[in-house]
Amino acid sequence: MTTLPMPADLPEPAINPNAQVVLAKRYLQKGPDGEPTEDARSLFWRVATAIAAMEAHYDKSPFTPEALARAFYDLMTGMRFLPNSPTLMNAGAPLGQLAACFVLPVGDSMEEIFDAVKFAALIHKSGGGTGFSFSRLRPKKSRVGSTGGVASGPVSFMRIFNTATEQVKQGGTRRGANMGILRIDHPDILEFITCKERENELQNFNISVALTERFMQAVEKGEDYDLVDPRDKRVVGSQNAAEVFSLLVRKAWESGDPGIVFIDRINRDNPTPALGEIESTNPCGEQPLLPYEACNLGSINLSVFFDPEAEDGIDWKGLTETVHLAVRFLDNVIDASRYPLDQITEMVRANRKIGLGIMGFADLLYLLRIPYDSTEALSLAEKVMETIQGEARSASKTLAAERGPFPAYAESVFGKRNLGPYRNATTTTIAPTGTLSIIAGCSSGIEPLFALAFSRHVMDGEKLVEANPHFVAAMQEAGAYSESLMEEVTRKGSIAHIGMLPEELRDVFVTAMDIEPVWHLKMQAAFQKYTDNAVSKTVNLPNKATKEDIREIYWLAYELGCKGVTVYRDGCKAGQVLCTGEGG
Ligand code: UDP
Repeated sequence: MTTLPMPADLPEPAINPNAQVVLAKRYLQKGPDGEPTEDARSLFWRVATAIAAMEAHYDKSPFTPEALARAFYDLMTGMRFLPNSPTLMNAGAPLGQLAACFVLPVGDSMEEIFDAVKFAALIHKSGGGTGFSFSRLRPKKSRVGSTGGVASGPVSFMRIFNTATEQVKQGGTRRGANMGILRIDHPDILEFITCKERENELQNFNISVALTERFMQAVEKGEDYDLVDPRDKRVVGSQNAAEVFSLLVRKAWESGDPGIVFIDRINRDNPTPALGEIESTNPCGEQPLLPYEACNLGSINLSVFFDPEAEDGIDWKGLTETVHLAVRFLDNVIDASRYPLDQITEMVRANRKIGLGIMGFADLLYLLRIPYDSTEALSLAEKVMETIQGEARSASKTLAAERGPFPAYAESVFGKRNLGPYRNATTTTIAPTGTLSIIAGCSSGIEPLFALAFSRHVMDGEKLVEANPHFVAAMQEAGAYSESLMEEVTRKGSIAHIGMLPEELRDVFVTAMDIEPVWHLKMQAAFQKYTDNAVSKTVNLPNKATKEDIREIYWLAYELGCKGVTVYRDGCKAGQVLCTGEGG
């Protein structure tokens, strides 16, 4: 389907061996015999040309598709920016579904529930992840009018979604991922909070409780709060808010599940309330969406913008140019994508949400010799994201001038307040970049490194050994590099307790477990401040962390303006649903 021939002078992408393995397993197009029909170069050219071809739809475009294809190719193969996995897999290929994130409504009838199961299967098959709110379902034991029986409630229906997901292995390449959300005031909330208690239960789900402002206030005041039947909004019971909050904290301490989302805050940032209320996010929580909405993401690799010559070590001009090109890329992805349902196509084309974010932040900090757990790092996070958000919005304005604003603009908050016009209802999201970061060879999202050196199992038992290149270079520079040091680091993951290394280096080359949990949260909040959608972040806690620690993290998240929190206490359960490259 590639429309443009590959230029003879197209440079080979500089792909590291780990990226080669991942591309070959999951991303390269394959023939009927299962053998790849393309290499990395043709993959990136396929994607670049398919996305650049959309330029031809717009008269006022300053680019020819040829010139833009080349610019997109350089953007991606220079590892400055990568679109989310479905775009790399499917652009210019028969499937043609390019978005990673979807939210589907689950209505309170058999038809609507099983429609959602079917729609989710279609989305999983195409490489997307789905989020659902089950809050509209009548509570367990409610009467079912047509049969005279009793309803089985949200949690039992979630098991059907879970089983269906298990059977659809996303074309054998990407595992189906779901987010399940229930409002704190749903009568079945206690069953929901404990629904992943047993091992292997609802494995294809991340779950989160949607906390309301009213609930948070009731916790503070030690009051009871109402449980409401979603069908008629009748109050059918009450719970003590502080007790339910303690249960949430205890469950998160035991297993990491459920997470929490601040649903009222999410809706305050809903750019198009006239089109509906936001009930759910995508599976990893970074993308709140309306029912039937989808969003494509893309991530800028910050480590590439380290510039030792620049005053503060960052090539801001290069970063700005990249943001503008990336926004054009992501807006074109919307036109190039074929969505599995008409309702989704309609919703996506009305709002044209995109989610530009970052990866390689921890690498950038290593290069700049700034400790992750420092106020300097928080300031840098804010400055980087403020720049990206500002430039992304300006790029979206430029596109609106060329192509027109997003169709729902007039009824959006921007239209009503005379801000804009913008081409996209949202422009920024910080994704986990589980696989993208392997392809780009950088640290994932805004996360600190998990280990400075480790061996990684990737699909089918294949093993990759990795040491962070910036760490290795710093050790060599300091004259501290040796085989035995590297062996020790691979064993321990961290250098925090390797006393023979200078303290300065031990402060800078920190890993997730060396960082106090509160710094994880502060970093999430710093990025959230300048992100339209939400931020994917795990607050890592040591095994010895207490429930009180988790309670503090939850309150701080609330106070600092985060849209949700996910905590993970080291060693508290065997495996997580998502979203590291290892999962497959
Ligand atoms: N996702 C999914 N299945 C997966 C990994 C990711 O459906 O196995 C979806 C999910 O919505 C997630 C989003 O893709 O929130 C972004 O994840 P990530 O950034 O890790 O994806 P990548 O583009 O790096 O593969």
